[in-house]
Amino acid sequence: MLFYLIGGWIFTFKFSLEDAVKELRPQLCYQCMKCSSGCTAAKVVNNYRPHEIVALVKAGYSDELINSDVIWACSVCLKCVEYCPQRVSPFEVVMALRNESIARGRVPPKSFVEMAKSVLKVGHIQEPMYIMSKDFEEVSRMELGLPEMPKPKDFEKFKQHVLLVGFEKLKEVIRV
Ligand code: SF4
Ligand code: SF4
Repeated sequence: MLFYLIGGWIFTFKFSLEDAVKELRPQLCYQCMKCSSGCTAAKVVNNYRPHEIVALVKAGYSDELINSDVIWACSVCLKCVEYCPQRVSPFEVVMALRNESIARGRVPPKSFVEMAKSVLKVGHIQEPMYIMSKDFEEVSRMELGLPEMPKPKDFEKFKQHVLLVGFEKLKEVIRV
């Protein structure tokens, strides 16, 4: 599951754009919007709606999406895979667009690149942070009584697996 999430989050290389259009069947989408109604990313990113992405691919605007930052907003929660009554899987369409974007040499948005660097460096998308208490004091996880963030037991092995799912293609692009 971990590898699937990392692979999906970064690059699920088995999904080519051609496969997305031919096999993932966006043409079967009837715009019910169930995918967008539950989408985790749509709740926080104004212009991100998976049903719109599927509609644009269906209408032949894949190139515009490939050159847009919007495809990098998906948080890989996979809810749209469960919700879609037509088994279109907007998630896989988005991953195919990302793959094509990288294949064309486009660099993802900075925030995404930073998260990717952090995964390679510490195994998480970001280091644990201090948060502000109601008394405006910075408190750590430990001070809140929370356990330490789990890390991969064998970090080298973890990195090898991350590279196995195609992460190095991003690594080349960002020259980590
Ligand atoms: S849930 Fe499926 S059919 Fe409905 S809008 Fe989304 S992709 Fe289209
Ligand atoms: S996996 Fe689907 S529901 Fe989840 S953030 Fe991505 S597009 Fe939205």
